[in-house]
Amino acid sequence: MECIINRRAQFSATHRYWLPELSETENLEKFGPFSKFPGQGHNYVLFISMSGELDEYGMVLNLSDVKHTIKNEATGQLDFSYLNDVWPEFKQTLPTTENIAKVIWERLTPHLPIVKVQLLEHPQMWAEYQGEGKKASLTIRSHFSAAHRLAPNLSAEKYGKCTRTHGHNYHLEVTVEGEMDSRTGMIVDVRALKKVVEDHVLELFDHSCINEDIPYFAESQIVPTTENISRYISDLLQSPIQKLGVKLSQVKLFESDQLWVEYKGNGSETFFNVATDFSAAHRLAHPDLSLEKNKQIYGKCARINGHGHNYHLEVTVKGEIDPVTGMGVDLGGLNQIIKNSVIEPMDHGFLNKDVSFFAQVVPTAENIAFYISNTLRSPIQQLGAELYKIKLVESPNNSCEIYAADLDQTSVNAAVKQLELAAV
Ligand SMILES: [Zn+2]
Ligand SMILES: [Zn+2]
Repeated sequence: MECIINRRAQFSATHRYWLPELSETENLEKFGPFSKFPGQGHNYVLFISMSGELDEYGMVLNLSDVKHTIKNEATGQLDFSYLNDVWPEFKQTLPTTENIAKVIWERLTPHLPIVKVQLLEHPQMWAEYQGEGKKASLTIRSHFSAAHRLAPNLSAEKYGKCTRTHGHNYHLEVTVEGEMDSRTGMIVDVRALKKVVEDHVLELFDHSCINEDIPYFAESQIVPTTENISRYISDLLQSPIQKLGVKLSQVKLFESDQLWVEYKGNGSETFFNVATDFSAAHRLAHPDLSLEKNKQIYGKCARINGHGHNYHLEVTVKGEIDPVTGMGVDLGGLNQIIKNSVIEPMDHGFLNKDVSFFAQVVPTAENIAFYISNTLRSPIQQLGAELYKIKLVESPNNSCEIYAADLDQTSVNAAVKQLELAAV
């Protein structure tokens, strides 16, 4: 069974968008304030995603090895540097966020099973690279505040307070993909992209009542759920973004930190997300191995009385938007399933002792994620939707993801077997 692990790293560096073959005026015209001497600095945040099968110890890779490789091969060299000069790759192609992500991929890929590099220049703008030549994606995050009510289609009996007019601070993430220019390192002019989002979405939605003020919703029976708003925003952005020479690949709309929707422009298909937290203790040690051996494998995590985390869980469900309710999945039903299957049995518990599955299986983040996805899959199916992915964040530096399509019926047995093998 495949599992994706994500490791965070950070570095601070400066860069300048300046091509020596152009005049000062031409540079200023092309890059605006980014061409200014001596450049600008950022606190970059890097997420390296790696994929693999779980080993006999319940891990994809030893995280301490991963941490050192990322530092030696990438962040240690970039930290406190002037990016334009630090690596020869940036002489050829400017160190834009998307190009830095690409070069980090190229330098790390001989050492780690990378599937994605995500690089945040700041919390409102980041690039992702997945090893596809010059193709990369860029995401910008923006905000609007708006009122809505999930009526008249929905009954107050079932949907309660949401049928009253209320409001949210919506967060919007717009992702575009395209080919990097081999000299400027850009897939798109970020300033032009921001302007498109401002003109076509923020201007319309910010400080509005969506049901009354936006004709698309006012003149129809379309309920302004997060699903329907995302879909409409995607429709609004499609053509102006195409005119910038890139493709809109995703709209992600957050109603709150606990609820958001991803829409990829595919008919009525949406990816609905809820997030929740639980606090639990665990100990990483296989019962059949000596303390010394366990400490060798799991480090401090093998200490005999255990330790704990605030786990953050994100559940992604794939569904079709219902034309009447405007929802991809019954939110109340989904929350109830997560509460019954995950929160109740795990929150404020000692996983090794309180969850019978972990009596035999070491509760690494990977195995916990695997257990949760396996537990949620069939109740969500009974709700008429499909579990797509779960993400479990154990600490700001470490998280893992399981795609439900990678699970199979025999997975639970396989995980137990791995440990039996390890003990031989
Ligand atoms: Zn609402
Ligand atoms: Zn731990």
